[in-house]
Amino acid sequence: MCRHVAWLGEPRSVASIVLEPEHGLLRQSYAPRHQRRGVVNADGWGVGFYDSGSPEPAPPVRWRSARPIWGDASFASVAPVLRSHAILAAVRSATVGMPIDESAAAPFTDGRWLLSHNGRVDRGVLPPRREAESACDSAVLAAHVFALGPDRVAETVREVARADPAAYLTLLLTDGVRITGITWGDQLSYLATPEGTAVASEPWDDDPRWVEVPDHHHLEVTPAGVSVTALEG
Ligand code: GLN
Repeated sequence: MCRHVAWLGEPRSVASIVLEPEHGLLRQSYAPRHQRRGVVNADGWGVGFYDSGSPEPAPPVRWRSARPIWGDASFASVAPVLRSHAILAAVRSATVGMPIDESAAAPFTDGRWLLSHNGRVDRGVLPPRREAESACDSAVLAAHVFALGPDRVAETVREVARADPAAYLTLLLTDGVRITGITWGDQLSYLATPEGTAVASEPWDDDPRWVEVPDHHHLEVTPAGVSVTALEG
């Protein structure tokens, strides 16, 4: 399964979120500490973020690749000078049978939204969506969530889980103003600091302030704070 991370707060570099933490996404791509399925995340990576200097709210920009993140010297070179108040990044361990190309790497996007999925879902339970960025299950799920409205993502996850009880549906979404997290089969943890809040599949360091979100829960991060509520079955 994949690993992902989101940041909302004071602008910081993409490198400081993705590459620099001791156990951050880069390290998690080859040595995750808390991954339940899969041992490496080498089937691509992606990062999406927002132009913090834009006078009008603007759609995010993305940089994605089908290669392992650890081999990407150009990204390592540029990431320290890419800065944003809202960042969503993922490294991918492709589910068997899914395409392995850049278009299948999270985050997926629609308008102001970015979405990353950690898990798998039977595409047969999802309506076909022409706007899906890839045939990958996560891209079809993202298109489904976007079509029904990110505001009702918790309800959408419950409906999809009813249709495919074997699905793993942990999600991270952001619109640059808030982060929404859903735990459904894989973990999320968050770190709230005075500078902002990080949400990640697994803590990027051993800071004791990391809090694990229980399974089947809905996390909301806004500038006002963090809330965690239970999803019904
Ligand atoms: N099913 C998705 C994919 O194939 C996500 C896999 C994962 O979470 N490891 O990319």
